[in-house]
Amino acid sequence: MLYNKNQYMPVSSGISVNNNLEIGGCDLAGLAAEYGTPLYIMDEETLRANCRDYMLSFSSNYSDVMIAYASKALSVLGVLKIIGEEGLGVDVVSGGELYLALKAGIVPQKIIFHGNNKSPQELIEALQAGVGLIVVDNLQELKNLEEIAGRLQKKASILIRVTPGIEAHTHDFIKTGGFDSKFGIHIERVCDFIEEIKHCNNIDFAGLHAHIGSQILEVNPFGFAVEKMTELIEKIQKRNHLEIKILNLGGGLGISYLERETPPPVAEYARVIGQELKYNLERRKLPFPKLIIEPGRSIVGRAGVTLYTIGAVKENKNIRKYLFVDGGMSDNPRPMMYGAKYAADIVSKISSRKNEMVTVAGKFCESGDVLIKDIHLPAALSGDLLAVYATGAYNYAMASNYNQNPRPAMVLVGQGKSRLLVRRETYDDLTAKQE
Ligand SMILES: *Cc1c(COP(=O)(O)O)cnc(C)c1O
Repeated sequence: MLYNKNQYMPVSSGISVNNNLEIGGCDLAGLAAEYGTPLYIMDEETLRANCRDYMLSFSSNYSDVMIAYASKALSVLGVLKIIGEEGLGVDVVSGGELYLALKAGIVPQKIIFHGNNKSPQELIEALQAGVGLIVVDNLQELKNLEEIAGRLQKKASILIRVTPGIEAHTHDFIKTGGFDSKFGIHIERVCDFIEEIKHCNNIDFAGLHAHIGSQILEVNPFGFAVEKMTELIEKIQKRNHLEIKILNLGGGLGISYLERETPPPVAEYARVIGQELKYNLERRKLPFPKLIIEPGRSIVGRAGVTLYTIGAVKENKNIRKYLFVDGGMSDNPRPMMYGAKYAADIVSKISSRKNEMVTVAGKFCESGDVLIKDIHLPAALSGDLLAVYATGAYNYAMASNYNQNPRPAMVLVGQGKSRLLVRRETYDDLTAKQE
């Protein structure tokens, strides 16, 4: 038996009675027959477990916490509803994401509106919906918001997006760099910015926000961010004579895409942030703000698997063996955009020896449309199903209709049952918006 459950697989993955890969008690060959491929599969058990892990881990390390799911990772009604049921709030970065969050029944007070260039219309929508917080990115936006809130006779509760001078990627972070960002206010200029807010009648300054990066695989950068932000809180208290009621530390915890990637557990991440924050605040005799954490990838990433059918198998003699699949860069642009790497299995050969080195390529007219370069798999045949793991985040969310391919369906699986979250697009959908 060569099958062993890796960290990149959904927690409910296993082997079916037919010796196929199964998720949530559903045989993937059965799902392919019922819904077709390519197919996005979301595992309810993994999704709920991740939500609970965040809620429990943070509340046991800090007294006043909100976890807000960064919905840009995957904004689908059925997923948002589950996340809302688990008690999380939701981050949105556009009017469209706000629309979905509201439609999914997320309480407006638990919605946070982000973005470096919100349109006046989006600010109106945010204020009319009564979102809990708007995260202000720049001076122009502050002015727009003040004017619009005045017109609507609303008060806008805001956080300032701070560029803390830390930029973290997977295993390294830069302490002095990170200022050349399109996001936020330079940490040295936040106090002056707050003075500008004092002139606003329709804006209620609630606190600070910082997001230092994504797919971060160690806890040190987060500890460092806590230190920088508490230093800033102290400075604001002295210079602006204001109390910070809310500290939002963003998201960014990484997930395992490959066997060798081992992200810190959420419990460890929560412990470091909670302990460091309490220590740094107490040391400076500062009151405890409410803490907000905004995970995206680490909520939905591992819950997702993309199922493809292998079409042609082509060998470029002595160079490379290709497995062509019926999807690719349009359902998962991350390998092309970021050089992202993925693990995969052949659904019917889950226990077989992985004795062939192959490259999995998509069907799109781009040489770069390669999903996985050089992966060890059992010998595959045309018609076999390929499951690519950890595709829950930033896959469907970034999907396109390139080459006029209809976007795949998405199903939720759990306890042996499956149901559609998103139906497969049709050819009619391709022309639906065209004159
Ligand atoms: C993207 C983003 C997140 C979530 O990042 P993940 O790496 O998916 O956890 C959280 N907050 C803000 C402001 C973001 O832009």
